[in-house]
Amino acid sequence: MLASLALLSPLAGAQSAPAAAVATTAAISAADLRARLYLIADDSLRGRLAGSAGDSVVTAYIASEFARVGLTPGGEDGGYFQTVHFRVRGGGEPAVPARNVIGILRGSDPVLRNEYVVISAHNDHVGVARHAVDHDSLRVSNFAAAMRKRGASSSAAKAWAGHALDSLRALRPPRADSIYNGADDDGSGTVSLLEIAEAMTAAPQKPKRSIIFISHTAEEEGLYGSAWFTDHPTVPIDSLVTELDMDMVGRGSPADVEHGGPAYLELIGTRRLSTELGDVAERVDATEPLPFKFNYAFDAPGDKEEYYCRADHYSYARYGIPSINFSRGDHPDYHQVTDEPQYIDYDAMARVATYVRDLALTIANLDHRVVVDKPKQQDPHAECVQ
Ligand SMILES: [Zn+2]
Repeated sequence: MLASLALLSPLAGAQSAPAAAVATTAAISAADLRARLYLIADDSLRGRLAGSAGDSVVTAYIASEFARVGLTPGGEDGGYFQTVHFRVRGGGEPAVPARNVIGILRGSDPVLRNEYVVISAHNDHVGVARHAVDHDSLRVSNFAAAMRKRGASSSAAKAWAGHALDSLRALRPPRADSIYNGADDDGSGTVSLLEIAEAMTAAPQKPKRSIIFISHTAEEEGLYGSAWFTDHPTVPIDSLVTELDMDMVGRGSPADVEHGGPAYLELIGTRRLSTELGDVAERVDATEPLPFKFNYAFDAPGDKEEYYCRADHYSYARYGIPSINFSRGDHPDYHQVTDEPQYIDYDAMARVATYVRDLALTIANLDHRVVVDKPKQQDPHAECVQ
């Protein structure tokens, strides 16, 4: 197991200062994703807690990017924002209004443009920890715990941890860290959403159906942003034909997750409402330069992780809208202050964003709506069942 030290080379990555303003190209690129992610996962946004100043800054950035690339406003009062009302932990309304950000790429077909394919991610994370910890020590101990969970002996994991921390100490002094940067959760989905919007609006050929780009808030608080949108949609709910949600698409290495690697991708919800959606997802994947190997394990009925009920796609599925959540999986930095941009696999993330773009385009150009052939739940507000 010690041999896996090389797998953890990202541990050695130094955190570099974010760019002031990021110039991006129309193409979906690893360089653009990196530039954007260093911006929104920066300490200065203080972990983007929904209803905080930091989340307000990131939603302003997303709206300004939607406007810059040419999406039309899809929020309230002719703007990009939709205010989301929810009770923060400890009661009361958020200090700063939490908001979804919604932009629309109008379809080219005079009839089909009144139907929408939704692409989404969430802009919030969990804020700031009560107590600071040493960044490297926490990270090493979390990876050592993951190694034990995967069967390494505690002595081997301990030896590895000691060795890893020594090598890091040789590189740099301890760093007190208390900010949950949420680079992967869900900074990765957020910057992928922006790159897809930029690529689709720059493309000469527009899709037949319209595309809604929505950045949900308050996912971490209980899927409040996506639930608010589907309970108070700014376009008719039955005009939403499919929803594609990206959450944690920036990791997925073998050190992070079992079976991890360049082709690793978890899909949740795929055929729960539409067999055809699953077929189209696999067909489009097969056309990608490096097709993904889909892991459907977490979509199994009764699965103990309950991912089906824990991400924003569910807010759409409960209304009978075929939806898929895409992720490159869990990792030892999940919901830790160590979830930072220097540990992200930008090439893999660019491939996920490109795939989601291609899938959205294919669905938007179908000559029929994706067929819902499975029963939908009676009451959208009933409790979710994995
Ligand atoms: Zn998330």
